[in-house]
Amino acid sequence: MPELPEVETIKGDLERVLIGATLEAVEIRDFNYLSKRGLKINSLKKLINQKILTIKRKGKLLILVFSKEALIFHLGMTGALFFSPREDYPILKTSMILKFTFNRGFLSFYDPRKFGKIWIIPKEQYEFWLENQIGPDALEISVRDFITLLKGSRKRIKTLLMDQKKIAGLGNIYTDELLFRAGINPFRQVSSLSENELEELYYHMKTLLREAIALRGSSIKDYIDGFGSKGAFQERHQVYGKRGQPCPKCGNPLLYASINGRSTTFCNQCQR
Ligand SMILES: [Zn+2]
Repeated sequence: MPELPEVETIKGDLERVLIGATLEAVEIRDFNYLSKRGLKINSLKKLINQKILTIKRKGKLLILVFSKEALIFHLGMTGALFFSPREDYPILKTSMILKFTFNRGFLSFYDPRKFGKIWIIPKEQYEFWLENQIGPDALEISVRDFITLLKGSRKRIKTLLMDQKKIAGLGNIYTDELLFRAGINPFRQVSSLSENELEELYYHMKTLLREAIALRGSSIKDYIDGFGSKGAFQERHQVYGKRGQPCPKCGNPLLYASINGRSTTFCNQCQR
């Protein structure tokens, strides 16, 4: 949390206001946060007077591409990045880590639970860096590549789908929802899935992610979009966070398990 649809929503919001904007100042509110991540104040200050050329997303990473450097965020559990034309925005007053002043307004980065990460990578190197950091993006990957990537793995399907090095963008929410839609039990070993099942899983993944993006993501705890508003896809969730509640397909109570330390909600009847 936030996962691919939430980061994609933030990306779209920031694109509308920040492409072509020039950074005028950076205010560091939490030095500790930065030093724990090996980030030097000087490398942040270097961004001043640079322009945002483009904004990208890969998996759960959001990339602000400046004239010379790329500023990359992983929002972790509770990270929020949002824009305000004025300085007097009312939300999340505490736990601000960074405040960027652009010639068009303010971009603030918050991280109450401090699981987020930040990198600054030279512009010429960030694409290569991304390639090494995480696997192909869940929205971009082709059906052929998806099947090749998964086929024969001895991991459980839930674990593999959440492995960012394999495929980037899915977390707990969207893997639970995806496996329910596809009728696949989260405990299944990937090698037990037929090519047809993998293909169906792929198309369910695309549809689910697109639906979630259309509703501006899921606001479970703290997630807000690039302008500080909540998403609406949580109202469409069928299983995530609903342990013990009746399955929307068969009515049996939804089960809860921990798979490789990740909480999982599913229906034992509908997911085989
Ligand atoms: Zn069911």
